[in-house]
Amino acid sequence: MLIARTINDLNSARATLGSAIGFVPTMGALHQGHLALIEAAKANGAKVAASIFVNPTQFGPSEDFTRYPRTEEADLEKLEAAGCHLVWLPDVATMYPPEGATAITLSGPATRWEGVLRPGHFAGVATVVAKLFGQVRPTHAYFGEKDFQQVQVITRMVADLLLPVEIVAIPTIRETDGLALSSRNRFLSPEDRARAPMLYATLRSAAAHIAAGEDVTKTLETACNNLSAANLTPDYFNLVDARSLEPMTIFTAPARILAAAKLGPIRLLDNIAVG
Ligand code: AMP
Repeated sequence: MLIARTINDLNSARATLGSAIGFVPTMGALHQGHLALIEAAKANGAKVAASIFVNPTQFGPSEDFTRYPRTEEADLEKLEAAGCHLVWLPDVATMYPPEGATAITLSGPATRWEGVLRPGHFAGVATVVAKLFGQVRPTHAYFGEKDFQQVQVITRMVADLLLPVEIVAIPTIRETDGLALSSRNRFLSPEDRARAPMLYATLRSAAAHIAAGEDVTKTLETACNNLSAANLTPDYFNLVDARSLEPMTIFTAPARILAAAKLGPIRLLDNIAVG
């Protein structure tokens, strides 16, 4: 596995890989969810590149940028074992030159949900992903449906900026009790960890009720009440059009329920297809 820490190293490594590249951008602290993206990229037959970069511009001032888990050595071992061909580990000065004056602005699918609760988050994500695409020049890039809104934001950005890369969305990898894998789950206390699967259980139940024709508003209200009763404080729990992410009060496919809930020191994020 080639490891690049400078643009020169990246360009030399990139030149040895040929034209077709599947790319998996990450912030490290890798788990089976990330590795499923590497697997999907490998299965597509191209060479696989991953990046590890904890991107400061996607964290708000009161968020956990400095506390975000950094486990580089273990990450590199996992990527090597997974058959990744190239890892790109840029530093902040490379990604954000001091004289930098350009960033991406977004509307559409970035507007609601995480966009409201984390102002500037998706602009930070889109800007860094666009830079990474320019550096790595992948033919395909793999993103997890765990961050469903992020997939729609990136897909929209690629279409709008006419970027020559195909975005591939990969289903969420979960613990056996349903909790979506996340780098932040390690911060859950044992009590909160025991409560956490309730979010996906509630999503499943609400999706089944809505698909069976039950009233959307009432179903979502019941779901929020059930979460609150279990000490998960919902930030949102909404049925949305799966592409525009605009809320729906009457179910029409393709639809998704997007949810975020506070649990102790972290926010759980999850979603489910309906129908
Ligand atoms: P992150 O390191 O959190 O920025 O995530 C890097 C990529 O891994 C993103 O495309 C995420 O959506 C994806 N990802 C994170 N958790 C999971 C999961 N449990 N299942 C599938 N993909 C995931």
